[in-house]
Amino acid sequence: MSENNVRVMGIDAGGTMTDTFFVKEDGNFVVGKAQSNPEDESLAIYNSSQDALAHWNRTVDDVYPELLTCVYSGTAMLNRVVQRKGLDVGLICNKGFEHVLSMGRALQCYLGYALEDRIHLNTHRYDEPLVPLKRIRGVTERTDVQGTIVIPIREKEVRQVTRELVDTGSKAIVICLLQSHKNPTSERRVRDIVKDELKILGKADLPVFASADYYPSRKESHRMNTTVLEAYAAEPSRQTLQKVSDRFKKHGAKFDLRVMATHGGTISWKAKELARTIVSGPVGGVIGSKLLGEVLGYDNVACSDIGGTSFDMALIVKGNFTIAQDPDMARLVLSLPLVAMDSVGAGAGSFVRLDPHNHSIKLGPDSAGYRVGTCWADSGLDTVSVSDCHLILGYLNPDNFLGGQIKLDVERARAHVKQQIADPLGLSVEDAAAGVIELLDLELHEYLRSNVSAKGYSPSDFVCFSYGGAGPVHTYGYTEGLGFKDVIVPAWAAGFSAFGCACADFEYRYDKSVDLALPQFASDKEKVEACKAIQDGWEELIEKVVEEFVINGFKREDVLLKPGYRMQYMGQLNDLEIDSPIMSAKDASDWDKITAAYEKYYEMVYSESACSPELGFSVTGVIMRGYVATQKPVIPEEKEVGKTPSPSAKLGTRKFYRHKKWSEATVWSMEKLQPGNEVFGPAIIESDSTTFVVPDGFATTLDKHRLFHLRETK
Ligand code: AMP
Repeated sequence: MSENNVRVMGIDAGGTMTDTFFVKEDGNFVVGKAQSNPEDESLAIYNSSQDALAHWNRTVDDVYPELLTCVYSGTAMLNRVVQRKGLDVGLICNKGFEHVLSMGRALQCYLGYALEDRIHLNTHRYDEPLVPLKRIRGVTERTDVQGTIVIPIREKEVRQVTRELVDTGSKAIVICLLQSHKNPTSERRVRDIVKDELKILGKADLPVFASADYYPSRKESHRMNTTVLEAYAAEPSRQTLQKVSDRFKKHGAKFDLRVMATHGGTISWKAKELARTIVSGPVGGVIGSKLLGEVLGYDNVACSDIGGTSFDMALIVKGNFTIAQDPDMARLVLSLPLVAMDSVGAGAGSFVRLDPHNHSIKLGPDSAGYRVGTCWADSGLDTVSVSDCHLILGYLNPDNFLGGQIKLDVERARAHVKQQIADPLGLSVEDAAAGVIELLDLELHEYLRSNVSAKGYSPSDFVCFSYGGAGPVHTYGYTEGLGFKDVIVPAWAAGFSAFGCACADFEYRYDKSVDLALPQFASDKEKVEACKAIQDGWEELIEKVVEEFVINGFKREDVLLKPGYRMQYMGQLNDLEIDSPIMSAKDASDWDKITAAYEKYYEMVYSESACSPELGFSVTGVIMRGYVATQKPVIPEEKEVGKTPSPSAKLGTRKFYRHKKWSEATVWSMEKLQPGNEVFGPAIIESDSTTFVVPDGFATTLDKHRLFHLRETK
């Protein structure tokens, strides 16, 4: 086996660009980029791979066969949901609850809104439900909140609604009954009858999804949405992944494609629960930040990622990210464990419009995506995007977009900005464009500041990592004055999410809701009973975790299991996720260890004085994670040279507009700068797929890990 074999590949198929990241046996890596291709993702991945491998003078055909593993992240599933382009699903629920899906706990009518729109009822709107009422049927059944069946199901009725759903064109059937996480008997009975009836109808190939088999957690809307999502979007996305996998195989790949999942681990594209890959790219960035933070010894990291379409941020506190149990995504409440992130639909490709009433500049929420902006003649766009403004002001080089693969036209951008923004506002083209950039900087700055402080922290406790193709373009703008300990731009910022995918373990995670409540001084008998319930839950989940690994050719003994649980003081509204201090729960002393670990973590999050054991303890969920470790990238370590960059790193100068004046910025090649080099603004550091803007009043130093540290000099 050669030391130079390429072993790991990470992919981030984003809305704008498709990034690939290749890691060699010795940990060295390269990054590639290509324009995304929503029609054929596999082609964009191929192009991006060629771009990356060209750095090593190698090709896809000779590298794919030597890869051991490949992790995909992308936005295809999310787009399918947003554009309502999923499968025609039929839904069976309890009689009288047929509108639960479209009501979405009421809060779905304002999810994702800015505060000013949230607080005004007249702006609230419901999206088209994933399943229309005509394909929803209620059946007579009731299981009470304790899990006791009060009204059993009626077989005839279930058969009847199955026939009706088939007649109305359902291509998959989802079953979600009340309290099925507590007692799945009725739901599974319905599932079996539906399957039997489908067989009779000659439709046995129609997939059937019972919520208790997929997402056995409380909160009906969340569970129903997630199971519907599985049928609606995950199954069609599997076909996209099949296509990607087929192209790999065509070029000799032997690995089994894996996908980044919302919990921060990777799962096979053949995994049963694929809905948990609905968001993957931004999760990759957080995983990459965690690894980088560990290597560099940073406990607290504020991750910030800007691409063409959005700004995503997450916090790593004391080396860990938080998992949100009931996140919302694409304006749907879901029950999926998701790496906690805050996102806003503002990125480098966001469309720019004037509010027709008050003429204020509005950014997004929609964006030019892979079509960049009006500055790209072939884009077919006529609405100005943020990228058009970057170009006019000298932030971006028109001849170096994707290393020159896409030629941008400054005059075209100027004409559109003039007509749509500058003239109506009575401004010069550059002042109008600069206004747009300042607005974006301000929005992101405020968003970052408020999300750090709303969680009870101060930026001065954190190092900020800035990445994504457009992160470095705006790092100065959204971090200025916030007081972060340090602001870091990795030289591989443009492929950072793909890098994160390459860092992630092969990991399955399953969750299950439980309801256990014990007083502070519980008897040993109560403690033993609680431990049994926890242990039963873990064992049920171990089977699911191991089953997934076995499908992928691993043996039970290859899998490292990590149990966890969710706990709160009785009566509290929010629980915390705890890594279990014990591998199995049996004795009363195990219960004491479980509560002690919870209190230790609670103390860390909320302070010691907030601990309230007198309320008693509730376990609200059990968790099982299974890992198989994979080859990871090695953070580069190069020799530091002097502060002064070599003249060969200087590419020239470019006119750069900011704060109402043009200046002459020095343009540097990112790749040619050496560790130890210092660059003072106004400067632009260019790479094929990202641009690091260092305005007047800022300076940056490149360290031995190829990380740029940005500081304010005024
Ligand atoms: P991402 O979606 O993370 O790939 O970021 C894409 C964004 O990177 C684009 O919209 C550009 O604003 C920004 N970018 C900065 N420099 C370049 C470059 N040389 N080529 C392509 N994109 C660039």
